Amino acid sequence: MTRINFAGIVDHSTLDYPGKSAAVLYLCGCPFRCPWCQNRELVLEEENCKLIEIDEILKQLKENFLLDAVCVTGGEPLLQEETIELLKRIKSGTKLLLKIDTNCYFPDMLEKAIPYLDFFTTDIKAPLDERYGRVAGLPEHWEEIVVRVRKSLSMLKEWNQDKEARTTIVPGLIDSMGDIEEIAKVINDTGFSLYTLQQFRAERTLNPEYEKIKSPSVELMHELGEAAKKHLPDVKVQIVTEKNGFEEIH
Ligand code: SF4
Repeated sequence: MTRINFAGIVDHSTLDYPGKSAAVLYLCGCPFRCPWCQNRELVLEEENCKLIEIDEILKQLKENFLLDAVCVTGGEPLLQEETIELLKRIKSGTKLLLKIDTNCYFPDMLEKAIPYLDFFTTDIKAPLDERYGRVAGLPEHWEEIVVRVRKSLSMLKEWNQDKEARTTIVPGLIDSMGDIEEIAKVINDTGFSLYTLQQFRAERTLNPEYEKIKSPSVELMHELGEAAKKHLPDVKVQIVTEKNGFEEIH
């Protein structure tokens, strides 16, 4: 019996696995402190976080007949060793497609997870320099973070299946054409098939000061999406905003 630090399950989502109906499993804990993060209770392991048997999660998935896929997210799902057991059990105990959302901070865990995955989403939060530390809320640790993210990305480069990168556009942190053009080079080099630019939302942020910051405009999101697309002609580029939802950039 293996237990995992778990916050809950969303039974049915059409937004978390491209083109599929997915259950979303929320795991607790994260090594980053992105000030704009909206998953405060997961990152700080508050409220709903509790140790739960992996068997119990499997039981819930098997009772849900409407699913095509499972998305394991957080927090950071690769923080816990037990996540590998969870992935293994989902893959061997169900016919569901399997995806994780990760911040790429745990390359050794990623290596163990990859054999069980059908799809993969990672944040590329910033260009791979000191900006990464600022965006992750750990400016003094930027070099270590960048080394780990690079190691994960070089592993993903060898993984020839569909994979998605995401960047959250946060005013004052990551919001310039230059930032996006540099990130686009990383996306291109790693061979991502999908790139999503997400609009920061000033709600329930990890650092309450970020609740005073205005979300980037839909117009800016389009401009940044177009800047990315210029560098990524063979990648599907999309933006997601509160007003319009997902929009592909052509
Ligand atoms: S946004 Fe940052 S702090 Fe929040 S869960 Fe993701 S990596 Fe962790």
